[in-house]
Amino acid sequence: RSRKGMRRSHDVLTPVNVVYCSCGAPTRSHAVCPTCGKYKERQVIHTATSHA
Ligand SMILES: [Zn+2]
Repeated sequence: RSRKGMRRSHDVLTPVNVVYCSCGAPTRSHAVCPTCGKYKERQVIHTATSHA
């Protein structure tokens, strides 16, 4: 009777590969680092000082 409510208990989130950014923060592969805004060593989110 305990089966009810157990299904998909682990399937809520899409399985992703956790990679560590060059800044040391754990992020997802194929995703921009939320900490420094870089993706694969590239600055993809322009900060105030990234581009004049
Ligand atoms: Zn980063």
